[in-house]
Amino acid sequence: MYDDETIPCAVCDKPARERVHRGCRERMAEALRQLPQLYRRLGDSLAPGRRGGDGRSGTRHAPLPCSVETLDLRSRGGIEGVVGGWARDLCEREQWDVPAYQSVIAIVDWACAILLTNLPMICDEHDAVKEIAQELAHITGQAQRIITGEKPPRRIGVQCSCGHTLKVTLDTAGVKCPACSTQYGHSEALRLPLAERRAA
Ligand SMILES: [Zn+2]
Ligand SMILES: [Zn+2]
Repeated sequence: MYDDETIPCAVCDKPARERVHRGCRERMAEALRQLPQLYRRLGDSLAPGRRGGDGRSGTRHAPLPCSVETLDLRSRGGIEGVVGGWARDLCEREQWDVPAYQSVIAIVDWACAILLTNLPMICDEHDAVKEIAQELAHITGQAQRIITGEKPPRRIGVQCSCGHTLKVTLDTAGVKCPACSTQYGHSEALRLPLAERRAA
């Protein structure tokens, strides 16, 4: 029994003694350590000569082949959009100067470094820490899957204690049951019983 007051973790909503669990913070740190390398490896994975995938015809969207996904992640607004966006947000909050980097890779390196350095403060204070954690987990997972050639994570049906079936992936950050509003963290969600498959 815990008698000190516990509040929900600002990232995963499970009871915590700190604003953000150490484990949740460590997952964010790991993503920030990996992203600069992932960014470079995505560049290696781009087949030379394959281009035009991100043409702006605008009239139709073909299904995304992997290389287009890779181009998206490597472009301004991809990995750069996530880490650069949050790093610029941090600088604004703290009234720090934002360096005028031109290349996407320089922004990615700078942003990951400054976010990593200030992660304790972000976890202690930032209102959007959950959003930051989710976006980091998402792009890191996406980049890793492209590099390893994995298929997108399979969604598994698990059963909420209320009986509702929840769709989760193995890298889920957490899930909230739409039926009974119970919030499950990462490991909790994966410990739920598998939902019975219904014959269609
Ligand atoms: Zn947590
Ligand atoms: Zn439920």
